[in-house]
Amino acid sequence: MGSKTILNNYGSFDVVFKKGKGSVLTDVNGKKYIDFLAGIAVNCLGHDFKPLVKAVSDQARKQIHICNYFLSDIGVSYAEELLAATGFEGVFFGNSGAEANEAAVKLARKFGQLNGGSRRKTIVTLERSFHGRTIATITATGQDVFHPESFAPYLEGFKTICPGDYKALGTAFDDTTAALMMECVQGEGGVFPLDKEWACAAAEAARKAGAIVICDEVQTGMGRTGTLLASEQLGIHPEVVTLAKAIAGGVPMGACLYRGKGNVLAAGDHQSTFGGNPLACRAASVVLHEILKDGFLQSVSEKGEYIRSTVKSWNLPCVEDVRGAGLMIGIQISGNPVEVEKLCLEEGVLFSTAGKNVLRLVPPLNIGYKEIDQGLAVIKKVLEKTSVN
Ligand code: PLP
Repeated sequence: MGSKTILNNYGSFDVVFKKGKGSVLTDVNGKKYIDFLAGIAVNCLGHDFKPLVKAVSDQARKQIHICNYFLSDIGVSYAEELLAATGFEGVFFGNSGAEANEAAVKLARKFGQLNGGSRRKTIVTLERSFHGRTIATITATGQDVFHPESFAPYLEGFKTICPGDYKALGTAFDDTTAALMMECVQGEGGVFPLDKEWACAAAEAARKAGAIVICDEVQTGMGRTGTLLASEQLGIHPEVVTLAKAIAGGVPMGACLYRGKGNVLAAGDHQSTFGGNPLACRAASVVLHEILKDGFLQSVSEKGEYIRSTVKSWNLPCVEDVRGAGLMIGIQISGNPVEVEKLCLEEGVLFSTAGKNVLRLVPPLNIGYKEIDQGLAVIKKVLEKTSVN
């Protein structure tokens, strides 16, 4: 179904979903699935979350979209709420993570221009990183697999260093560096949390050379790791943070937040037809309110810890490592992760793989323990078979 009409650039599975409720999806045949994927860390409040559905329906009646030459009431109020909650001074709204990162790259280059002219243009990113699929953001992405010859030439002015490599910090930054850009937990790369000490040292080295720090929080942001922003846990106070995925609970939206030295974007520097339209802002406002409710973020941390300790307690030979932060969880296995993913899907549990050999679980942030236990029981059963094989 759909295989002849929708470009098959995702290697899609043979499942067609029809609806969802909470953390459970239903396909066209009525089969139910525990959703440990949440649209890859997007459906942070699960499916059919009533306050979100109500707000989006209400907003659709008022105004879905207006031209960005004008402000919308909800656009202004949401921007104020987001800046107050995150401590940033300004925001550019787009529609996706790649677009938010494009804005961050442009911002960094403009910062460089203002603070060193055409010399200060380079964006330093990390090996194993992922920043999106546009030409600039795949160039920024520190994984060769995303740089096939078919899309060349890639852009100038990007270089990568290895996360955790202290020696590299001595030579990575100079007066040609505009920004250091990093994910706090490398998601696509295999769910690798950055080492806090190294991240602080990297940020310090970048700033000492006159550059700014960008955190790509497209996946880690909006409560995914147990704090509103994951960069809060690293303590690096980035000048720029990019957000997308969960920001509007499934309505497409991205954001590039800036402050301090990063506050260089001016009218006309960057634009987007759909960016931050009233529908997306209304949805995003519901998400922000839910995440900031008492105990919500704490419960994300607790559920993440519960999942990680449960998987560790299985003591399965094929499980090499269990890591992550909050509800961004990586289970590194010795078997074929795609095979495990497929078998679990057959058994009614949905998640994705990341990196070379990692099962990535990013369930809705409001998932219940009942669904967690049901989903984990299936993963355990499938991994037990993998361990025997
Ligand atoms: N940055 C990170 C850290 C991501 O995980 C992703 C998507 O997986 C992106 C950027 C790109 O986001 P989008 O697919 O919304 O363009």
